[in-house]
Amino acid sequence: MHITKKERDYLLEIGKRTDKFPLRLSELAKSMKISEPSAFEMVERLKKAELVKTHGGMVILTDYGNSLYSKIIMAHRTLETLFSEFEIDPDAACKECSKIDYLMDQEVIVKLFNKLGAPEFCPHGKPISVS
Ligand SMILES: [Zn+2]
Repeated sequence: MHITKKERDYLLEIGKRTDKFPLRLSELAKSMKISEPSAFEMVERLKKAELVKTHGGMVILTDYGNSLYSKIIMAHRTLETLFSEFEIDPDAACKECSKIDYLMDQEVIVKLFNKLGAPEFCPHGKPISVS
């Protein structure tokens, strides 16, 4: 099942934020620069797709949401590393990779990752871990 670019952006924002602490809907709205009703609508969509759940006003990734989040992050950082091999600026690479990371086949990403010598970090110094 494929998600949309918009769903991908929310999934990553929620995943990044819940690394540290549970995320409130109001905080999600603020960080995505949208109204609370719009954030609510989006969260409802992600709930239907079984990517997130809500608990006491907090938005949390489900196990499935978490595994998809890890896959996208892995694809994103692997692609960034690949782009940087061709001297593409890390920020430009980040922007371009965000357009495709969520569409990539996991097997292809793992192949690229291995071909790149199983890099430990992306060009921004963030860890790449195989899930
Ligand atoms: Zn990036």
